[in-house]
Amino acid sequence: MKYLLIIGDGMADNPVPELGGHTPLEVADKPVIDDLARRGVLGSVVNCPKEFEPGSATAIMSIFGASPLKYYHGRGPLEAAAQGVSLRDGDMACRCNMVALEDGDMPYESRRILSHSAGSIDGETSDKLVTELWASPEFAALAREFDIEINPGSSFRHFAVMHGADIGGIRLIPPHDHLGEVIGPLAPSGCAVAEKLEKLQEAAFRFLDHHPLNEARRAAGKLPANGIWFWAEGTAAMLPDFAEKYGHTGEVVSAVPLVRGIARLSGLPAPWVEGVTGEIDTNWDGKCQKTIEILSRCDFAALHIEAPDECTHNGDTPGKLQSIEWLDSRETGPIVEWLRGRGEDFRILILSDHKTLTSNRAHDGDPVPFLLYDSREQNCSGLSYTEANGLKTGTYLPDGSVLLDMLFER
Ligand SMILES: [Zn+2]
Repeated sequence: MKYLLIIGDGMADNPVPELGGHTPLEVADKPVIDDLARRGVLGSVVNCPKEFEPGSATAIMSIFGASPLKYYHGRGPLEAAAQGVSLRDGDMACRCNMVALEDGDMPYESRRILSHSAGSIDGETSDKLVTELWASPEFAALAREFDIEINPGSSFRHFAVMHGADIGGIRLIPPHDHLGEVIGPLAPSGCAVAEKLEKLQEAAFRFLDHHPLNEARRAAGKLPANGIWFWAEGTAAMLPDFAEKYGHTGEVVSAVPLVRGIARLSGLPAPWVEGVTGEIDTNWDGKCQKTIEILSRCDFAALHIEAPDECTHNGDTPGKLQSIEWLDSRETGPIVEWLRGRGEDFRILILSDHKTLTSNRAHDGDPVPFLLYDSREQNCSGLSYTEANGLKTGTYLPDGSVLLDMLFER
């Protein structure tokens, strides 16, 4: 028996007026996934406990069987693990996004956050900007004083580690949930560490705003990467060992540090695929080939596709539809064909980790649909893979951390 998990990040949504009152999952052409849903079990699952901000950190932990209520101590340490950074006692890890802040004559705190990803900035420019920032005189002096280091992340996603940081009471906000809002009320707050992070964000703007690379981006009609934004703080993390818990081993294919970090902390390798970006321009075929290669060696593979989520944050509805269709035709289709060709039985779990809403470009913790297909085809839902159909079947899981037990028939 082979076991496959496919996560389409943020592909579930609410009905969208511009799509005739339908959701992207209802509108997108996805014949392979719909066929698996019809010939499999369909249901709804809650992956984001309402005690936390909804998002992939808690959702992906749930899916990998680590209940966030028990194991979640912040997102930063999960991502640090992806880079092989282990945290010591007293260390705080957090994300350091490259963001686009509004241009104009207004003071720093009156600017709006235009993009949480600096307009999906390319990794090379992003790494160059953050490396030069950390080496620039004013910023470097502050960073030394505050004992904070940067780990460039080869996209808009860098992350930082601050040593000797007491983060009790801290409030950092995820920039993708506050697009179009002014910075002032969103600034880090709640403790002395937050004040340091705010000073760093302001100093970063002074260095980055008129950096030649940003002037070149503006001239090319792109958003500038003229700010950094700290969020997703946390302290050292431990997750249950996957092989010990499930009695299966496998590997995880994802471009996103968070997912790669959760995999590593669970003892699952996350091999890198050349050309992946976590956006719609990712190496779709490379990820498909890697997943097949893993399944040929191991009994379990997980494939995570970030594009639907990022397209939604960017307000790109056609991109969201396209990424769902490519998840179907360029990933699920060829992998299922390969599995059928082998003759051995297989089970596939496909789901969206959380909803990302076209209406406000932010995450939502409502139940999401899942489908569980078994090549022995004993239970046939007769329904396509949509939010409404997931709810209709009455199979409802209030806690996503049981999903892999279902996949592995435990
Ligand atoms: Zn997201």
